[in-house]
Amino acid sequence: MPKFIFVVGGVMSGVGKGAACASIGRILQGRGYRVTALKIDPYINVDAGTMNPVEHGEVFVTADGDETDQDIGNYERFLDIDITSINYMTTGRVYRTVIEKERNLEYGGKTVEVVPHVPEEVIRRINAAQRRAKADFTLIEIGGTVGEYQNVLFLEAARMMRLEHPKDVLVVLVSYLPIPSKTGEMKTKPTQYAVRTLNSAGIQPDMILARAERPLDEPRKRKLSIFCSISEGDVISAPDVDSIYEIPLNFEAEDLGGRILKKFGMRSKRKDLKDWTTFVRSIKNAGKPVRIGIIGKYFATGNFTLADSYLSVIEALKHAAWSLGRTPQLEWLSAEEYETDPKKLRELSKYDGILIPGGFGSRGVEGKIKVIKYCREKKIPYFGLCYGMQLATVEFARNVAGLAKASTAEVDPLSPHQVIHIMPEQAAIVRAKKFGGSMRLGAYPCVLAERTISRRAYGAPEISERHRHRYEVNNAYRERLREAGLIFAGTSPDGLLVEIVELKDHPFFVGVQFHPEFLSRPLRPHPLFRAFIKAAMKK
Ligand code: GLN
Repeated sequence: MPKFIFVVGGVMSGVGKGAACASIGRILQGRGYRVTALKIDPYINVDAGTMNPVEHGEVFVTADGDETDQDIGNYERFLDIDITSINYMTTGRVYRTVIEKERNLEYGGKTVEVVPHVPEEVIRRINAAQRRAKADFTLIEIGGTVGEYQNVLFLEAARMMRLEHPKDVLVVLVSYLPIPSKTGEMKTKPTQYAVRTLNSAGIQPDMILARAERPLDEPRKRKLSIFCSISEGDVISAPDVDSIYEIPLNFEAEDLGGRILKKFGMRSKRKDLKDWTTFVRSIKNAGKPVRIGIIGKYFATGNFTLADSYLSVIEALKHAAWSLGRTPQLEWLSAEEYETDPKKLRELSKYDGILIPGGFGSRGVEGKIKVIKYCREKKIPYFGLCYGMQLATVEFARNVAGLAKASTAEVDPLSPHQVIHIMPEQAAIVRAKKFGGSMRLGAYPCVLAERTISRRAYGAPEISERHRHRYEVNNAYRERLREAGLIFAGTSPDGLLVEIVELKDHPFFVGVQFHPEFLSRPLRPHPLFRAFIKAAMKK
């Protein structure tokens, strides 16, 4: 019988529920089992693709072209598996299916009701994901915090599943224990309330992962045990860590894997986190820093700087740096500042490499183009992802190929030289305002040209990478750009779509139409990110 573990959050959001869920998966894999993981987001949006990244964080694109939550990225990185669309659901998605079924008379004349029909659709999806992955353990992370109005139906699904299969379902509460600075004492009360709230939804958690600045002490464990009716051993300490990759090891130090298996009446097939331990050691032993500037615009949210919008890019840079024995030192630079203060460009020379990730719209574009010009001329290693590739092409067209007013149609639809234009099949989509889930999405093959940086990095003639874009290099300008020295290092197999541009006589200047960051895994860093970091180390 497959087993299901629901992971829910208490007290507040942003305490690392996703990382905790992914870590539980990793330790169960380490014990010899097949694992998959689902994320439930309680908002109405059908996918994460229509939300501003500052609002929501990164949009993680799956191989089958779904625009999902960044936690799916955590699952792929921790579990080293490819996750597909069925593993991601939102309230919008669930309701849409229920309503479509109703329209198709699939409820056979019954009154379709919020309960049980909505939770039943949730359960159908969970089971489908389990079957698709042939998973022994299926982890289901319910977004948000218990007590919120929006995730009640998902808790209801957990309750109904447990009612039907009491021996096959566990509920883990990831909660937060604050330490008020005036007293310095770790407080358990908010977690006690979270458990009560969960109880009122008909669910008693089987375990509490106690997130806090510090490890949990014995008196606190005892208190939570008594007030929440959970045995002391099932209250697991989850203190802050320097790197999220330490979490599986911390959990196993408390025998979390053993405890979960025991609850299901199962045994470890093996116990092996050797690779992971070696990897975590490489983080701790990383040597000299390699300093990378990331030029973006989705950083600011109120008084905070939120790097979440670029989560996979950041992780990919870290994986590559650690694998080369270096400490990644990443800094966020705001594209717009280079527009108002051109003197700032000179500061870019302090960096070992500059990366421009994906983006949309015109804000910050001219600043990014100035940065790219500086990197090209001063021979600073440059890596452009998606928009970063398109804008590198614009910069080259303007300043090398002599097309002074060149631009991308996304920013300047009146430019006489739209070296980046909308893909033909996308034009109709945009005209019809059908924006949701309609970009060129997911994995597509790309063939690499001989004797290019990319070909050497990948060591293979054909690759597959994930995409998310509506615009592309305009083939009408390919010849002109090629003559001026731009190298088309990768194209779609039919040759029609430019996937990679490079420059020669430069230590590393690579722009890719795709998003390589989605394929980087801790134990298998991405070859292009590695090549970029290697070039940066030489500078
Ligand atoms: N805005 C560009 C496009 O739609 C680039 C997209 C991206 O960077 N993900 O083509």
